[in-house]
Amino acid sequence: MSLPRFRYSQLLRCSTRLSAKPSSLSRLRPFSAMASKQSQGSSAYTPRYIDIGINLADPIFRGLYHGKQRHPDDLGAVISRAKEVGCQKLIVTGSDLTNSKEALEIAKEYPGVVYTTAGIHPCSSAIFSSSHKPRASEGGEGHTEGQSTPCDPDPSQPISEDHDACPKKTSQIIASLQNLIAEAQASTPGALVAFGEFGLDYDRLHYCSRKVQLHSFAAQLDLVLAMKPQLPLFLHSRAAHADFVGLLKDKFGPRLERLEKGGVVHSFTGTAEEMRELMDLGLYIGTNGCSFKTAENCDVVKEIKLDRLMLETDGPWCEVRPSHEGGKYLVSKINADREAEAAAAAVAAAEAAEATEPQNDNVEAGEKPTQETPVLAAATAALASASLAPPSSSTLGSSSSPGQTGTTATTTTTTTTNSAGTNTPSTRTHTPGPKPRRKPPAPKQTKKEPEVPERWKSVKKEKWVEGAMVKSRNEPCMIERVGTVVAAIKGVSVEEVCEAAWENTCRVFKLE
Ligand SMILES: [Zn+2]
Repeated sequence: MSLPRFRYSQLLRCSTRLSAKPSSLSRLRPFSAMASKQSQGSSAYTPRYIDIGINLADPIFRGLYHGKQRHPDDLGAVISRAKEVGCQKLIVTGSDLTNSKEALEIAKEYPGVVYTTAGIHPCSSAIFSSSHKPRASEGGEGHTEGQSTPCDPDPSQPISEDHDACPKKTSQIIASLQNLIAEAQASTPGALVAFGEFGLDYDRLHYCSRKVQLHSFAAQLDLVLAMKPQLPLFLHSRAAHADFVGLLKDKFGPRLERLEKGGVVHSFTGTAEEMRELMDLGLYIGTNGCSFKTAENCDVVKEIKLDRLMLETDGPWCEVRPSHEGGKYLVSKINADREAEAAAAAVAAAEAAEATEPQNDNVEAGEKPTQETPVLAAATAALASASLAPPSSSTLGSSSSPGQTGTTATTTTTTTTNSAGTNTPSTRTHTPGPKPRRKPPAPKQTKKEPEVPERWKSVKKEKWVEGAMVKSRNEPCMIERVGTVVAAIKGVSVEEVCEAAWENTCRVFKLE
């Protein structure tokens, strides 16, 4: 069973009303804007993001799940939502030949917004193997996987290391990749901004053996070296740091001095020591929800230098989950924002109440509700709301439960309605006699995982409706959560994080 979830927009709307500020916030402010405003006094900052790793060429963004059309193509809505949170540019990951071509087609549709990469992911690198049998859909050439998520082999069954890479297939694949890049650069100048995604992934040897992954990575690095000029690199490294760095140094020199345009190691989940080595080599670190899973992960993120940081969602995967360590920062940040807003509301409402004291006496006696009644109620509700918020992430389970969120939203909706001058009855604001109770019912604990308010409704794919996000399908508008968590972990403002990542990304990928 699930309790009703309240949209983040509802929460913000109520916060705006409660705080008695001018109702000029017709456009919703994201988490990060709230956080930034808190940390910087009155100077409002509108965050801007570039999602450096978003897999929009995955069929899931067309409503296709494992080959079945579950809902209409909603790619346009996904990109609109991204823009709405300030994610102005998206770099769509190309992870095999087919997928890289599709990514380029999306870039053509959204010039100046969507950019792409082209390369072959380690998990798609089995096509280099002598044992690889191309599927019928691959036209017998053995070059493609068809989509960025290959059909799932058994994780407990790694691919045999017995098979070598095939030289003939390799030359065909590399020639195809070279042609694809040349055609992209000719047909859509400026759209293809990086070579990749490529690298090593020893966590998923069930997609491709270690031996063939190393071969694929090396062959693609050779292609980068042969390019004039080179492209920046979009790299993937998972549980393979020593081999990963070793191969980069083999090809580009011990200080990567032959690497002309730099690169980013995206979706970083390695150790602090590994991260420092990558930064020392001049590489950038891409962070997403997978970078915040554990306390150890978060300790690593804390150490990423701002001038080496990039942000990404890696959607449809790697969402920031409230149950992960980083999610706690997100939840506590939101609660802190709510507390601050509620406290400000209480002060404003108390001031307003003081200015109209005689009328308030009437209200207290229950004789004649006046226009100030909602103000008093607002103060009370705000205080109650603030007192509800837990002091720290240690009480995560209750801090963000749907029940509690619902309580807050209900309270403020009532107040808002009355402020608007309607006669909607409200037991809280119009009941004569005792003052409104400050302590609402205890939140119900019906879900295992805490939730954070969302801007848009999120539904299961089977229940898709226009304008809704799909549960568990991470998308680029969620990058504001990544920015918020990184800022909270590092103890800096969202503005510092966003601006640093923006500058780094524009500099490396030559975006304007
Ligand atoms: Zn990756």
